[in-house]
Amino acid sequence: MDATLSNIDLQRSNYDVDAIRADFPILASEFNGYPLTFLDSGASAQKPECVLRRMDDVYRRSYANVHRGAYALSQAATDYYEGARKTVARYLNARSDDEIVFTHNVTAAINLVAHSYGRRFMERGDEVIISQMEHHANIVPWQLLRDEIGIELKVAPIDEAGNLLLDQLAEMFSHKTKLVSLTHVSNVLGTIVPIKKVIDLAHERDIPVLIDGAQGIVHTRVDVQDLDAEFYAFTGHKLYGPSGIGVLYGKKDLLNTMPPYQGGGDMIERVTFEKTTYRDAPARFEAGTPPFVEAAGLAAAIDYVDEIGMENISSHEQELLNYATERLNEVDGITIYGEAQHKAGIISFTLDKVHPHDIATIVDSRGVSVRAGHHCAQPLMDWYGVAATTRASFGMYSNKQDVDALVDGLKYVKEIFS
Ligand SMILES: *Cc1c(COP(=O)(O)O)cnc(C)c1O
Repeated sequence: MDATLSNIDLQRSNYDVDAIRADFPILASEFNGYPLTFLDSGASAQKPECVLRRMDDVYRRSYANVHRGAYALSQAATDYYEGARKTVARYLNARSDDEIVFTHNVTAAINLVAHSYGRRFMERGDEVIISQMEHHANIVPWQLLRDEIGIELKVAPIDEAGNLLLDQLAEMFSHKTKLVSLTHVSNVLGTIVPIKKVIDLAHERDIPVLIDGAQGIVHTRVDVQDLDAEFYAFTGHKLYGPSGIGVLYGKKDLLNTMPPYQGGGDMIERVTFEKTTYRDAPARFEAGTPPFVEAAGLAAAIDYVDEIGMENISSHEQELLNYATERLNEVDGITIYGEAQHKAGIISFTLDKVHPHDIATIVDSRGVSVRAGHHCAQPLMDWYGVAATTRASFGMYSNKQDVDALVDGLKYVKEIFS
């Protein structure tokens, strides 16, 4: 027997996708008599049983407002919340729990940086560099800041395959550049941006970097000390956690130089009508009752991901991506957008003469969920000269049958439109 081959088989059988699927209750559903083929994890991932149970547990047994009461129930809820902060800090390899700010999603995290960091450290004429493949969440907050204080927004180019053009990005740096704000992984093209290189390049010029990790955290292992970015933001619901919770990692010294973004309860040291003083980070950025049940759910999701291992998840998704790329290319008239050197489990495509929305509707009749539209990246769509694409995106539970169901669905679409 071929030793190498058996090794590969062994590795494959170690990643037990069926066992993983069994942990996600929704995947057992049927739609229109078809088993659910969920290929929209890039928009939001499904939740494993342990996340649902953890949140249920907090609501049933440990529910009271956090940081407020001296009584046991409030302390139990606070323990869940602060425990979740520790889990996130450990997972990201942050130096301290104080570097983890809970927000409501990645959009809120980027807005926090734009408003707080931006208003404090930027002035008219200063520049923020983003890229051609940003999600609207990493475009619009900077435009709001531009309209308010007159900063300039510079856009780093990509090539046709969807690779960020690093040399051209580096040429854009100037003494006016106050921040580089980039996606880690494109939610449309699947491009894995070599952010470590970008961060090193920016740091040579003392330029801080924010990474939109909404997709990056889902498909790759993230170590914030190794990356050394000033900020890394992500959203819980794409990482198999609940909606309503996001994370802003920020270097502690930097966070403590930034003014509060929203004011209210819990973020203050002392309030009088004349003057209010603020607590240090992360508290100063967490005004009001935080999403503490969601934080507990996110911690359960991270524990689950960690148990399976992000490296294993990534290589499973990589294998699926290769399989899907091959199988989709069998379909006549298909164009795939995004052929970067390093890609995560996201495939956008168009089909000749069929509108992406029609594709999504028709395959949905066969239980296949895919996204159609501009994917909150209209400038990228404009650059490719398309109004919309259809997008299939994978999670740790996706399998080859999902890909086959999509390909069968597309062949059915072609029959209808022929
Ligand atoms: C989904 C996504 C966002 C927005 O996430 P929210 O949870 O809606 O804040 C931002 N950037 C990228 C790359 C995304 O994929």
